[in-house]
Amino acid sequence: MLVSKAEVAVETVDVLAVDDEQVNLLLLSGLLRRQGVNIITARSGFEALKLMPKHDFALILMDVMMPGMDGFTTAERVRADETTRHIPIIFVTAISKEQRHVFKGYETGAVDYLIKPFEHGILKSKVQVFVEMHRQRMALKQAGAALERTVAELRSSALALSDSRARFQSLFTSMFNGFALLSFEDGALSGLGLSRIVEVNPAMEQIIERPREALLDKHVGAVLPNLEEYWNDFVTQVARTGQPAQFEGYLGELKRWLRVSAYVPGPNLVVLVAEDITPRRKAEETLHERTFQDPLTGLANRALFLNRLDQAMERSRRRLNYLYAVIFLDLDNFKPINSSLGYASGDLVLRTVAERIQGVARGLDTVSRCGPDEFGLILEELKTPGEALRVARRIGLELSRVLDMDGHQLHFTASMGVVLGPSEYAQPEELLQDAALAMEHARALGGGKIKVFKWAMRKRAQYALTVHQSLHNALERSEFRLHYQPIFNLVDNTLAGFEALIRWQVGSILVPPNDFVPYAEQTGLIVPIGAWALMEACREAARWERDFNLPKNFTIAVNLSAKQFAQPDLMRYLARALDESRLDPSRLKVEITETLVMQNPESVVHKLRGLREIGAKVSIDDFGTGYSSLAYLQRFPINTLKVDRSFVSDMDAFENLVIVRTIVSLAHNLGLDVVAEGIETERQRAFLADLSCECGQGFLFSKPLAQDRALEMLGICCPKTGN
Ligand code: C2E
Ligand code: MG
Ligand code: MG
Repeated sequence: MLVSKAEVAVETVDVLAVDDEQVNLLLLSGLLRRQGVNIITARSGFEALKLMPKHDFALILMDVMMPGMDGFTTAERVRADETTRHIPIIFVTAISKEQRHVFKGYETGAVDYLIKPFEHGILKSKVQVFVEMHRQRMALKQAGAALERTVAELRSSALALSDSRARFQSLFTSMFNGFALLSFEDGALSGLGLSRIVEVNPAMEQIIERPREALLDKHVGAVLPNLEEYWNDFVTQVARTGQPAQFEGYLGELKRWLRVSAYVPGPNLVVLVAEDITPRRKAEETLHERTFQDPLTGLANRALFLNRLDQAMERSRRRLNYLYAVIFLDLDNFKPINSSLGYASGDLVLRTVAERIQGVARGLDTVSRCGPDEFGLILEELKTPGEALRVARRIGLELSRVLDMDGHQLHFTASMGVVLGPSEYAQPEELLQDAALAMEHARALGGGKIKVFKWAMRKRAQYALTVHQSLHNALERSEFRLHYQPIFNLVDNTLAGFEALIRWQVGSILVPPNDFVPYAEQTGLIVPIGAWALMEACREAARWERDFNLPKNFTIAVNLSAKQFAQPDLMRYLARALDESRLDPSRLKVEITETLVMQNPESVVHKLRGLREIGAKVSIDDFGTGYSSLAYLQRFPINTLKVDRSFVSDMDAFENLVIVRTIVSLAHNLGLDVVAEGIETERQRAFLADLSCECGQGFLFSKPLAQDRALEMLGICCPKTGN
């Protein structure tokens, strides 16, 4: 820093006056005080020398003639000292101006003489000159020091500058974000593609996957030829307006997502700072996929399906004549795949099915996996409703193609429900529900079928729901009753047993089982209802056992539904019913339908063995309707076949006659006895008796009887001896 003149001017200057005469010293002090000079006095040469180190004298005024050390000697000493030799000395002397003295004076480096008595003005002006010189020297010295400080400061700030530049450089090179300086030589209008790359940092080299040399001076368009238009829009906007901005963009060629900040550092320049956000975007995409995609098949999941359906419904509301359709598809025979071939095979099947369905669907359709083996399709922009059915049929055909699974030749069929839009739905869920309902109807037809949704189906479903509620209440309010239909021995007309048949007492009306058992079966309520029937039948039969003289093979037959039979704790509650009622187990005959047996023979065989262990008997109900091979039955531990009513009622038809005869003779070969259902005429009875059919049941003998009427019949047929 430079020293200002003002700072120099205020400095007082020391002048040394050396004289052995006190008077002379006082005189000098008095003369020079007003010149801004500080007179320091010494009475001898020695004293003067002692003062030298303490002051920076501008001048020494020295008497020559002094006792001890004279002026010249003192001057020599002053000159001899490196630190004081520059100090000018004016000899103030009374000695005449002789050459000798003058010479000697100059030898010692004196600058001037003043001969006493001197003129005051001369003294003052001479002193003034030296003082001024001193002052200038001082100023120069200070300026030099200041300059030196400035130089030092400059030097250190230059160091700092280069330091910060180095720091910047290292930041620039090591920074995680990519940096690129672009120049728009022909202005922003020429577009991002024609901007030139002026500078890039290593992070940017990595992002672009090209070395610096391959980037510098190149046009952006030459480096990234396939940039989407929105990149250009974004960068040129920043270049044009000078407003910094940020956006997220995708570099398709490099499969990278970047968050880019752009600003303008100078005319025709744009800086892009890019952060690679690909990992974050990937995570977001995975999240999105997890939320909206079925991980196994890659299809849309239920949530996305409903979302798309909502959009289709909205379109149909806004556009006249907009036709769309929803297909709900359920594989008919998928469930056993997992249990027999394993889950990996099951997964493969589902993936193949997904692919085949997708192969049929068009690009604008949505295919989704809505449940474990359920798929949903939204068919958009249909020309006719018939188109939806054609698609459904093609899917059916695709699925029926053989699928080879580790040597297993698998065939699939699917039940499909179709809803044709536009329809009046508020929510997509409702529409999907109706498609599923239509599918249920298709499935009830035996698989591989397609059903279009009709409002009547909804009514039936709603009715089922109401029935379910009512059945639930009926159970709580004990509205179920058992009626008992007698079964007679056709050979000797003795009472062979009863079949317990359930009824629902609604006020004075008795609802027959065909009107509610199917619903109870659908909703699962048949399980508690059937359990009640079983318990009730066992209790009643145990009472008969106590009160009547029941024939040896007398049984009470109880119907078990498929759902009931599938219950894992079936054996437990059967055993409990027998235990609690104290009924002889051999009096209990369980009736299961032939269809149930054929659907899942393996697990049925297992349970039937359990029944035999308990000591109960088993009867196959409605026999002849389930197309089972009689030989097959050999494997089952059963006691009785019940010939279905349909054959008995129409035995005049030759075909039925043959069937009944065959059933009876084959049953006998297997060691089973036969009960014929629905005997309504004497002719039927006689005919069956001729065929050696053991037992019969039907309106000819008796309709199902209420509890008290059954007791009456028992009283007549099996009275206790002694009564
Ligand atoms: P099912 O087990 O085959 O019962 C025989 C059905 O045939 C009874 O109908 C009976 O009344 C009827 N029937 C008997 N003889 C004749 C006849 O000569 N002519 C005609 N036309 N019909 C005759 P119901 O009582 O209406 O029972 C119908 C079905 O309901 C039963 O068929 C059985 O499958 C089911 N069911 C009845 N009670 C129960 C039960 O407690 N649990 C379960 N799961 N199902 C039951
Ligand atoms: Mg039955
Ligand atoms: Mg039957």
